[in-house]
Amino acid sequence: MTNRLDRGYQRFQGEFEEAALRVLRSGYYILGEELEQFEESFARYIGVRHCLGVGNGLDALRLACMALDIGPGDEVIVPANTFFASALAVTQAGGTPVFAEPDEYYCLDPEEIEKRCTEHTKAVMVVHLYGQTARMDAISEICKRKGLRIIEDCAQSHGANYMGRVSGSIGDLGCFSFYPSKNLGAFGDGGAVVTNDDDLAARIRCLRNYGSSKRYYYDECGINSRLDELQAALLSVRLKHMGELNRERKASAAAYDKGIQNEKIIKPAVCLGAEHVYHQYVLRTQERDRLIGHLKIRGIDTIIHYPVPCHLTDAYASLGYKPGSLPVTEKYAATVLSIPMYNGLKKTEQQRVIEALNEF
Ligand SMILES: *Cc1c(COP(=O)(O)O)cnc(C)c1O
Repeated sequence: MTNRLDRGYQRFQGEFEEAALRVLRSGYYILGEELEQFEESFARYIGVRHCLGVGNGLDALRLACMALDIGPGDEVIVPANTFFASALAVTQAGGTPVFAEPDEYYCLDPEEIEKRCTEHTKAVMVVHLYGQTARMDAISEICKRKGLRIIEDCAQSHGANYMGRVSGSIGDLGCFSFYPSKNLGAFGDGGAVVTNDDDLAARIRCLRNYGSSKRYYYDECGINSRLDELQAALLSVRLKHMGELNRERKASAAAYDKGIQNEKIIKPAVCLGAEHVYHQYVLRTQERDRLIGHLKIRGIDTIIHYPVPCHLTDAYASLGYKPGSLPVTEKYAATVLSIPMYNGLKKTEQQRVIEALNEF
């Protein structure tokens, strides 16, 4: 029972195939009308003025850092319990990630910002992990007071909102990934940056295309990272169905919430005012290895998001963190477990997962 992406394709097969053929036959494959249309629809979906399609989620985050002029000597506060790309984007831009602890909802603890902020801090990268938005009211207030910019990593939170404000529209820049398994998934790599700021949007439009705003004239040194026409057309199809797709995930989560009853297992907490879109349904247990084995022999696959927190990766050894540096993060890394959660997960399959968990 692994993540069955083929079911997501079959569900709207006719529409996907029509869109793909339209692009293949058009003769336009990069920076064309399909991208413009997708950018317009996605901006509307998030409720912002601008959307720029880019090559993937990492590049979206990296371009956001570049557009905010984050470079050598600049620090960006990043939760340590995130996918590696959140931190890597800061490093690629030339800045330094400063790792911080999450709250009980697995998102950046607002109190950590004051604690980790130095004279070099330029921005805060908020990650709406597993599909739940961070407590953006508190985070926005602190960042405003301290003059820090906010980058939202929305790779797992397409359509999630906090007190009615949609993730990606709250900070200075919202960064999305359309990796196939995300809530809004492409059929290959893809990403986008959204913003209400006209100047940041113009800068990213230029940076994603070598730093060129006019063909063969270069304003600055950018990168090549564009969402291609084929992915844009396929994403436009899926975007039309996002309401239904996220509702289905929420219904699956509600069934888990209700069905899972085992004192050895901690279910995910939802913050008051947050609308969670369940990119993942993440449990915690002290007996993780044994639970993984128990589920495995019953044909149920699980994943750990993420076994090694960013601050303890070999890649960031030079930053000097040690086991014990971030105890909350490390406790989560040692105990979290994601159970099957994707569009197309059947009720009978889910019931088997619930029974296996309760039997444990
Ligand atoms: C998937 C993901 C990314 C990176 O997206 P890619 O498109 O794979 O580069 C970044 N941050 C988080 C939190 C993610 O889940």
